[in-house]
Formats: sequence, C-alpha cells, structure tokens
Amino acid sequence: MSTLFEKIAAGEIPADIVYSDDEIVAFRDINPQAPTHVLIIPRRPIPTVLDLEAGDAELVGRMVLVAGQIARDVGVDAGGYRLVFNCKEDGGQEVYHIHLHLLGGRKMSWPPG
Ligand code: 5GP
Repeated sequence: MSTLFEKIAAGEIPADIVYSDDEIVAFRDINPQAPTHVLIIPRRPIPTVLDLEAGDAELVGRMVLVAGQIARDVGVDAGGYRLVFNCKEDGGQEVYHIHLHLLGGRKMSWPPG
C-alpha cells in the first residue's frame, strides 16, 4: 500500500509541486506553518529518519541541497530559514514517509513547541 506522500510523488494526489527529479520531490505543505512551508521527500518510501542506512547518506544530503535551491528560488535565502525532520511520536511525525520541512518567510522562535 502506498503512503500518502508516494501518491503525491506519483501524481495520484494533487499537490503544489515546486521541485521534482528522479529521486526527490518537493511540494507546498497543505497546512503551512510559515509563509514558505515546503516538504522535501524522497520518491522511495522510508518511514522515519531512524530507518535511514549508510547508503542513503547521499540522498539525504541531496534533500538538504534541494531545500537550499528552493530557498533561493522563493527568496527566503537572505533572511534564512529552518529545516526540520520530525521523527516518530515525540518528534511530532504524522506521515511515515520521511520529509524535510523547509520553513521560512518569518522569524522562527526557539525552543520549538
Ligand atoms: P509531520 O508532522 O509528519 O512532520 O508533517 C506532515 C506534514 O504533512 C504536515 O505539515 C501536514 O500539514 C502535511 N500534509 C499532510 N497531508 C498532506 C497532503 O495531503 N498534502 C500536503 N501538501 N501536505 C500534507
């Protein structure tokens, strides 16, 4: 059974896609927590960041680089932005297909809620 984000990556569920290549897709969050809120996902379903293996290092690195490219494209690079991986229940993860949150366009507070 496909995850929600696999379906978005496959075009089976509509999303506002801002980046796509053969292994990574990025789209706007349906419930944005900042003026810019984009989710960067691998096409391959990996449930949590705890499931990453050594061979996934390049993929995860590319996800961070894609986030930087999107930040430049949408113009949040000058002010800065936040990247977040939520992991499992205490981390606030709701969708079990890893995704990197790119949040920008407003000043972030710390600590997070
Ligand atoms: P998590 O809490 O797992 O780190 O983040 C999941 C994110 O996915 C949430 O920010 C939520 O708003 C977003 N999301 C959930 N369902 C959909 C959807 O169908 N489309 C889009 N674009 N985002 C979704």
